Amino acid sequence: MAGEQPEPQEFSRFSGTFTRIGRKLATGSHQNPSPMTEKVIFFDIDGTLLNTGGAGQRAMERALTAEFQIDFPFDGVLTAGRTDRGITDEILERYSFDNTAQNRARFQEAYLAQLPMSLRDSPGLLLPKIRELLEQLSLHGHVTLSLLTGNYAEGAWIKLRHYELDHFFQFGGFGDHDANRNNVAQVAIEVASRELDRAVDGSETMVIGDTPADIQCAQAIGAKCVAVATGVYSSIELEPYNPDHLFEDFADTDKVVERILAML
Ligand SMILES: [Mg+2]
Repeated sequence: MAGEQPEPQEFSRFSGTFTRIGRKLATGSHQNPSPMTEKVIFFDIDGTLLNTGGAGQRAMERALTAEFQIDFPFDGVLTAGRTDRGITDEILERYSFDNTAQNRARFQEAYLAQLPMSLRDSPGLLLPKIRELLEQLSLHGHVTLSLLTGNYAEGAWIKLRHYELDHFFQFGGFGDHDANRNNVAQVAIEVASRELDRAVDGSETMVIGDTPADIQCAQAIGAKCVAVATGVYSSIELEPYNPDHLFEDFADTDKVVERILAML
């Protein structure tokens, strides 16, 4: 992992499920001049809401075999925090296929065809108390739940439907067209503005995700950022990227919701 490690004496802050980061702790709902202004929370999917048990990667491997006749070893291909477009670009380059719209579409369609079966075959799970978290946040009328994910849009909805989370979300930014997650975040703001029929500013939004790329894309759009260590990155690895808040997991629903609402 790149980045500076935290001072040893700060390690104690990472105990339990509710971890505070020193920066911006003064932020509170009392500072919000208009508490009922609609706010948007952008959720990442993999490692944040759910763990597919490798179904996504397995579906990509099967797609490569079926469509490109590659018995694909995924070794060395980083997927966490990346966009499906970025992964596609790397795969096509690695196997010397032209990176054309046609080849990208062939891979995408083959992957999406494999994904439902792969999800059914994999030991995936919802991460701790995610349904409770989304249900509680949904009760707050000024909060809109949205997505900011590297998944292809259709892949995102397939995963969310599989875990019966799709009804919590109406729109989002997806990884179909951008290898750079920061660009996906910008698109997510534009989509939110269109859907809410007003100019949404990054400062009125929050990004919740499990990788350094989630933190960095939140910072790129001026969003608040909540990181959670339920993916492949530990809290000690995430902390140097300076999320506004860092949770070990979302198991303590009441405290998590309280903190998120105070930060918005
Ligand atoms: Mg993730």
